[in-house]
Amino acid sequence: MKCVTLVAIAITTLSACAGGTEKTIVAPPPPPPVTTFTATIEQVNTSITRATFPNSLLSLKGTVRTNLGVVVSSGFSWTLNGESVSSASTFEQTVTPGTYTVCLEAPASKACNTVSVSAPKPMTGSVFLATVSEIPTQNPQLVACSWKSGETGCVDMNADMQYSIASADFLSDTSYIFIRCKTAGCGWKSSITQVSRVDSAKAINVVLLRDSWKIQCGTWANTTITLSLEKAYSFRENNGIAMNIPFFFRSNNVPLGYIYNSPTWNKNSFPIPVALDSDSSDVALLPNDSTIVMNSAQSLSENFGSQCFLGKPLFRPATFSEVGPVNQSGRRSYLTGIGIQVKNIPNSLAGGSGDGTNIVGGSIFLSQNPQSLFLAIYVIKHELVHTLGFGHGNGRVAWQPGLMTDSTNLRTSDPLTGVLIAEEVAHMQAFYRVRELALKYNACGIGCIHQGERINLGLPVQRVYAGSLSAPTQFSGNISRNETALKP
Ligand SMILES: [Zn+2]
Repeated sequence: MKCVTLVAIAITTLSACAGGTEKTIVAPPPPPPVTTFTATIEQVNTSITRATFPNSLLSLKGTVRTNLGVVVSSGFSWTLNGESVSSASTFEQTVTPGTYTVCLEAPASKACNTVSVSAPKPMTGSVFLATVSEIPTQNPQLVACSWKSGETGCVDMNADMQYSIASADFLSDTSYIFIRCKTAGCGWKSSITQVSRVDSAKAINVVLLRDSWKIQCGTWANTTITLSLEKAYSFRENNGIAMNIPFFFRSNNVPLGYIYNSPTWNKNSFPIPVALDSDSSDVALLPNDSTIVMNSAQSLSENFGSQCFLGKPLFRPATFSEVGPVNQSGRRSYLTGIGIQVKNIPNSLAGGSGDGTNIVGGSIFLSQNPQSLFLAIYVIKHELVHTLGFGHGNGRVAWQPGLMTDSTNLRTSDPLTGVLIAEEVAHMQAFYRVRELALKYNACGIGCIHQGERINLGLPVQRVYAGSLSAPTQFSGNISRNETALKP
């Protein structure tokens, strides 16, 4: 007997035996296995770093799977705008800003995405000029610069005093916008404002101030004073102990970049109502007391040159109820003007109240002891200047013999005794004008200009001690002139 073994293709073996006759059985072939592929773009990222600036790093990640779910690692490719760029599962390339079509291709499968790569956002903002008149007469030639631990690049300001500057510095959490004269000596101080990467979405506005200030009218008409914010912020101390209200320009503890944003009265509050509070005084007030107070106030307006600067006097006589008397913490405060009490206390003093933005009220306690000091016109004027938002000048480094600077001012033989001197007037006017613009345009004001001035003087950027509006009579604790250095 003959046996034949037939092998059917790859799969089936059949045997058949028959006497004398051969019979062949052939099994039908199975269908060939079919593999399909699916390409998927899993991740598309773009990011700007210091290394890629101003371009972006494009990162792609994709997979290709068979119909059985098996991930394959070869035989596919990435294309970027139609050009083959990679056959790995991930792909990274630095690309210039623009629109890209990225595709991941596998046999009979293709996935595509459109990727928009944006240019780095610039910092933008406007510069507002603080001048003696409300309308600045000229535009200085200015530049806006990026600043990290130093200046890293500048752009010119346009004719509308606006800037737009892109820099890798602005990718970090802390950097600065530095506004300065294009060439040194243009007559304006610099300004430096701290920014962070999220700030590129909003305007970073700044106020600029001249190097000098010309007083327009009053006692010091046509007097030009060189402004020194460093002097206005000089720390007044005695053997390391802070003296009362230790800066002429007072400082508040508010976020960096807008440091020492101490308050002023709103321009519309002038003339500020002033009233004597006989109810709360320790002695009976005489009709003449009112005259003395208003003469002091008038003299201060004349010294300050308020008629040109504000178009009106600083103060006006008012009734008791007009100044908004309220009893707070066992003493009387005033919420809509200045109230004056005469007290049996050794020294005269002043305080203030605010609405969160501006000063709205002031209280003055005039000393009746030891020598009826409230009769001295310079004491009343000194306290009135406190209610305008100013502290004491540092007699060693600031101007002398200022009304707010030093007790040497009390030498009655000095013809300037009791006079607000030109340096004080110029700095007070500058302070008010800068703050007015800073509030109006949401701009960084006096603090940024002070730091800009320090840079021009070759001094490090650092904030001053953060005092408060209602300074206690004696500070305690460790007070340092340079409390916190700004981080570069
Ligand atoms: Zn004082």
